[in-house]
Amino acid sequence: MLNIVLFGPPGAGKGTQSERLIEKYGLVHLSTGDIFRANIKGETELGLLAKSFMDKGALVPDEVTINMLKSEVLKHENAKGFIFDGFPRTNAQATALDELLSSLNTSITMMLALDVEEDELRERLKKRAEFSGRPDDADPAIIQNRINVYKNETAPVKAFYEAQNKFISIQGIGEIDEISTRLYQAIDNR
Ligand code: AMP
Repeated sequence: MLNIVLFGPPGAGKGTQSERLIEKYGLVHLSTGDIFRANIKGETELGLLAKSFMDKGALVPDEVTINMLKSEVLKHENAKGFIFDGFPRTNAQATALDELLSSLNTSITMMLALDVEEDELRERLKKRAEFSGRPDDADPAIIQNRINVYKNETAPVKAFYEAQNKFISIQGIGEIDEISTRLYQAIDNR
């Protein structure tokens, strides 16, 4: 299996690049943010709970997120592999993901981290707000909170994969196609 963690701060291009990677490598795309938004739209209990955190730009609690992710992975028994987009965002989530994959006799192949500087992220999210319809894109204070949460809670997850020799940094600035090519090269050189 090819199991990729696509990592990076909000606005780094994880969603855009995931679309291309699933197409090229035939992987299942699991975006925890997308799944939470679908639950909000469907007015499920999970959606209601997630919304209270997402609206502030805070993380949904680990237990809730991990259980949700597990049940999504288990829905795809015959997958060739997965792209985890927006997950794991804490070390507890990374540990749970390792345990889950190990119980399925597989593991994370690599973490690809899109590297984009903070000013550029703010610019991109401001532009995205014009069409995304996402409340958490619309308010600069919430955007800043998401960036801060990334720095404090999520960025340390990098070390988790570095320790396993699975971390690869990818320059996330430039044309979308150029960035895709960098990702393909990293994957094909594995
Ligand atoms: P995203 O679409 O990845 O930008 O995620 C949007 C929001 O969903 C985040 O700001 C969090 O509130 C929540 N979220 C998504 N993924 C996770 C996760 N792995 N752990 C906790 N919260 C998450």
